[in-house]
Amino acid sequence: MAHNALPKRVRLVEVGPRDGLQNEPALHLNTALKVKLIERLAACGLTHIECGSFVSASKVPQMADSAGVFQQIRRHNGVRYAALTPNLRAVQDAINTGVSEVAVFTAASDAFNQHNIHCTTDESLQRFAPAIELAQQHQLPVRAYISTVIECPYSGPTDPVTVANLAEQLTAMGCYEISLGDTIGTGTPLQTARLLETVTQQVPVERIAVHFHNTYGQALANILTALQFGVSVIDTSIAGLGGCPYAPGASGNIATEDVLYMLQGMGIETGVSLEKLVSTSHWICQQLAKENDSRVSQALKPLAGVKTFTQRQ
Ligand code: MG
Repeated sequence: MAHNALPKRVRLVEVGPRDGLQNEPALHLNTALKVKLIERLAACGLTHIECGSFVSASKVPQMADSAGVFQQIRRHNGVRYAALTPNLRAVQDAINTGVSEVAVFTAASDAFNQHNIHCTTDESLQRFAPAIELAQQHQLPVRAYISTVIECPYSGPTDPVTVANLAEQLTAMGCYEISLGDTIGTGTPLQTARLLETVTQQVPVERIAVHFHNTYGQALANILTALQFGVSVIDTSIAGLGGCPYAPGASGNIATEDVLYMLQGMGIETGVSLEKLVSTSHWICQQLAKENDSRVSQALKPLAGVKTFTQRQ
């Protein structure tokens, strides 16, 4: 297992407003709430926020107002406001609404892609090509997500070589960063190590991000493993927003607060305020009438707003 020096600084990519809210009941959502959440997340010090997606409103009603969200957010300097854009038309919509970064998504498993986007992995890349090209003409950075990097709910374990080849192809197509997603959250640290060992032979580690789901409680252990490989970009979701469609009732995204707490304990810089994040986390859970899925926010709840809170940092 390769052990590079731990990164001194990590960039957290906050996916709560999109990946998180997309899995919450639409009845709790409205444009004003999303705008406020995004503005509060930026005020916490997060510099990279996935805010919406330009996909079919009938398939994902939670994201139907993404254009309105992008039009209404007050922008902070130095913050990237990203959108998911599966095709050419979506990139055009993103350009029209002033999105600062777009993202394409595919999976390492053909079976998963067939279920999710009704095409094979190769066909998904063909679909992205003109979308990536248009984004590049408009100087928009393009991120890529690869799902099912460890296991697919339909076809079983994923070969790390498949992920490495796909990451290399997406990089060659112009994606500046590849986010590796353990979609069903079954991965353990040794699998994460094998995956990163293989992928980083074909794509520089600086271009790799990780997106671990906490469904089986393995996310922090997997993230620590990724840090030991030199990965310095981590996808997280405030309050752990976003359940797991493959295990109803179980958690999906790892909470931003939980990752931030671990990074702070390791002396790794993020520029994000834990205190502000915890307060935002409790606020959004209240708005959504749901329990907070972050261990750290649960632990700090009795202290939030109390003077001693900051003294404990
Ligand atoms: Mg996710």
